[in-house]
Amino acid sequence: MKTLRKFDMSGKVSIITGGAQGLGKAMATALAEAGSDIVIAEINVPLAQETARRLEADCGIRTLVVRCDVTSPADAEQLAKETVGAFGKIDVLVNNAGICINTKAESVTPEEWLKVININLNGVFFCSQAVGRVMIEQKSGSIINISSMSGLIVNTPQPQASYNASKAAVIHLTKSLAAEWAEHRIRVNTIAPGYMLTEMTRPTFENRKEWSDRWTSLIPMSRPGNPDELGGIVVYLASDASSYATGGVFTVDGGYTVW
Ligand code: NDP
Repeated sequence: MKTLRKFDMSGKVSIITGGAQGLGKAMATALAEAGSDIVIAEINVPLAQETARRLEADCGIRTLVVRCDVTSPADAEQLAKETVGAFGKIDVLVNNAGICINTKAESVTPEEWLKVININLNGVFFCSQAVGRVMIEQKSGSIINISSMSGLIVNTPQPQASYNASKAAVIHLTKSLAAEWAEHRIRVNTIAPGYMLTEMTRPTFENRKEWSDRWTSLIPMSRPGNPDELGGIVVYLASDASSYATGGVFTVDGGYTVW
């Protein structure tokens, strides 16, 4: 098959957790532009429905919104069930939902610690397990976990031990699932973004210059990324273009991790 045709996602079905806004919305848009039908798994259902309507209108694809808290194994099972019910299969899962809490390690509460680990790590596993069972039956699938450069380096100057630990764990979970599920023809990779301008980071870029100026000074490209700059890598990893890539860590960080 010719190279560019391998990126075609027509007829494929992709789930994006936390896909109503931010990086999830940008990746859902890229996959929809490549032709994939889109399932948005979200706790913010009204915003997810708005995003889904826009994707249908702009890209002419089909969408489904499923209310899903990724920390709930029952919700993850329901997500897989509703997706198969609507579309008959699942080709791609993008585990994107995630949060960050900036509290010093000596002050972080058990509730804060568990919340971050539950959403960022356990949520990735529960959704991968529920969808992975479907993909094992199908004997095909691509799972893309959104970790972070914070799984490879420690950000400065803000304290975020829980976030960094959760993202490092997502990277190793990615490799573990890639090893276990290669025999089922399921590929599992992770994208490790650097600082990207989203609802999560925009307030800091606008109001906390002592942090964001330091961040920018440490990025060789001297700027944060725009969410649509993850579009190319997510379509690559979701599609047949990456048919020999599994267990990989793909940094998209303006060069942050080279220094
Ligand atoms: P946003 O906060 O903009 O978007 C995250 C989305 O996930 C929100 O819609 C949020 O809903 C939803 N969400 C939160 N908790 C849950 C849950 N339990 N179940 C389902 N959905 C949930 O974040 P970003 O787009 O910035 O980040 C997306 C991912 O990318 C995260 O994993 C993040 O760690 C990672 N990342 C982000 C970087 C950045 O610079 N922005 C850099 C590197 C990695 P609600 O708003 O209602 O809480």
